[in-house]
Formats: sequence, C-alpha cells, structure tokens
Amino acid sequence: MSIPTKALQKTGPEEPFRVVTIERRDPREDDVVIDIKAAGICHSDIHTIRNEWGEAHFPLTVGHEIAGVVEAVGSKVTKWKVGDRVGVGCLVNSCQECDECKAGFENNCSHSVGTYNSTDVDGTITQGGYAQKIVVNENFVCRIPDELDFDVAAPLLCAGITTYSPLATWKVEAGQKVAVLGLGGLGHMGVQIAVAKGADVTVLSRSLKKAEVAKELGASRTLATTEENFFTDHRAEFDFILNTISADIELNKYLGLLKPRGVMAVVGLPPTAQSLKFGALIGGRKVLTGSNIGGIAETQEMLDFCAKHGFGARIEKISVEDVDAAYDRVVAGDVQFRFVIDTETF
Ligand SMILES: [Zn+2]
Ligand SMILES: [Zn+2]
Repeated sequence: MSIPTKALQKTGPEEPFRVVTIERRDPREDDVVIDIKAAGICHSDIHTIRNEWGEAHFPLTVGHEIAGVVEAVGSKVTKWKVGDRVGVGCLVNSCQECDECKAGFENNCSHSVGTYNSTDVDGTITQGGYAQKIVVNENFVCRIPDELDFDVAAPLLCAGITTYSPLATWKVEAGQKVAVLGLGGLGHMGVQIAVAKGADVTVLSRSLKKAEVAKELGASRTLATTEENFFTDHRAEFDFILNTISADIELNKYLGLLKPRGVMAVVGLPPTAQSLKFGALIGGRKVLTGSNIGGIAETQEMLDFCAKHGFGARIEKISVEDVDAAYDRVVAGDVQFRFVIDTETF
C-alpha cells in the first residue's frame, strides 16, 4: 500500500520534466501526509537534477520549498491535525539523538535526510516537492502562519532560513550596517530580514540594475562593486556582510569592507576554492563564517518572524509545464526572485 501522487520527474539530466505518478509511503505512526499547494524552485534543485553536483539518482523529483495543508496524520502524531497549514524545507529526517539534533541543529546531523535525492531511513531515495503530496515525519514539518500565503511562504523554507539563520546567529540588530552581496533568491530574503531586524541595509552588486527593486525591499542603497575605488571608498563600513553569490569573489577585498570585529557569512557555494589571506582576518579580528540552512525550530522562528513583519518571498507563479523554461531563466538570472509552481496545474 502506498499513496499515488502526481509529480514532476526527470529520468536524466538532459531530459525534460514529465508529469508522472509516483508513490509516497503510507504514513507511519509519526508521519503526516501533506497536500502540497505551492513548491518553490531553488537553484540547488537545478544543480542537482542537471547532475552538476554529480550525484543525482534518476528518475528524480526535486523541490525543497514546500507549502501545503495536512491531509492525514499517523496514529501517534501529536503536533499536527488535518487542515493545518504547514511547510517542509530541505530536511525530512535526522537521527534526532545526536548532540547537534538535541541542540536544534538537525541541519548539522551526520544522519540527516535531505528532502530529495537523499537516502531515506528505509533505504529508498527521497523524492521532493514538485508534486501534489508528500509524506514527512512530523518533526520535520513547520507551521505556516495564516498571514502568509502558500506561494510566498514556500521559498522561505530554503531561501528564507538560509539567510535568516546567519543573521540571527550573529545577532544582526537595529543600528547595524549590513551589506547583502548579490540580489537573487537568497539576497532578496536577506535584505528583507535584515531590514526587519532594524539594520541599515546596502545591496552590493556588480551593477545598479536592481537598485530600484532593492529599495522596494527596504535597502537604503545599492552600490556597484565595479565602480572605481569601490573597495577603498567603502573600507571598514559594515558590521556584517551576507554573501549570497556562488561565483568567485575577491574575498580579501570584501573583508576590507568590514569594520573591526565585523562578520562575513557565506551562504553561496562557488564551484572553485577561494583564496584567503589570513591578514584580512587578523587585522581587526574579523570573522569569516559559513551557514547551511538552519534547524527545524529556527525555521519555525523564521516563518513566525516573516509573518510578524508582513513579508514573504517575491515570486513569479508558474504552472507545471513551465518548469523547464523557468530553469533556464533562473540560470540566466531572469527572475524576481523565486519561481513557485502552482500545484493546481498538475
Ligand atoms: Zn534550496
Ligand atoms: Zn542527529
């Protein structure tokens, strides 16, 4: 017995998406069945299913920005009931016993199970959220506050927590000067979250093309990093830099933009190694750190924070037939700021 559900699947990296019927497991006693209303498209989905990270298990359904409604619950589920508005992000399980899990960092658990293309506890390969239903352990589900529509909430489950977690961890607060490097799916969430925390936010970009939309998102200004003397003109200006880009950067120069004791957190993943001069950290005792999504409790905190401050992701809604074309547009940087699949179109 299992639950048949329509899903978008690829059978190989070059193949187009096709709508197929896949089987979700029958809910175990601690599982919930979710009727998916909206599924965001994350750049990681594209890297994975185009085999750019080299480990895709085909046939595969991706998607880890999932929002929907609880449709059924297992016999021992205590946290959820039918009809609850919920979301699922990048994780669907972990050991729930190690120090990291106990501390709320399921994202750091060495036995965590990714929402797709990951080996589940039963040995099967997990299948993601470009689908009508998903079955998930109740501890890996978050509540979507009523203030947030499903389509603007879905991208929060990855892009939202990826940017919220470093800003919260390093206690970015009112009065601080924050720079967000790159204004894409991640950057546009970083700007909104840092602004909601009361920071004075600057977007750093190669050009001023997105200056207007950056302002709409709450940034006080956009600076073009290609401008002459940029790195000397803005030396020691920022308390915190959130680097969301996944391309090579002149790391040592960017660290020079930080005030003494400033922090740069990286959430983008360039394919090649970056060169760091230790002197860029030692002078001014600066911190260079990384961050990878966040734990489940923190993801809930982020959703509640976004609802309280009245914002979600900026999205373009698409139907299931549009996903291949949307992928090309994401790669070309031609989306403001997240595509979300309307699952009504299955
Ligand atoms: Zn993602
Ligand atoms: Zn663990």
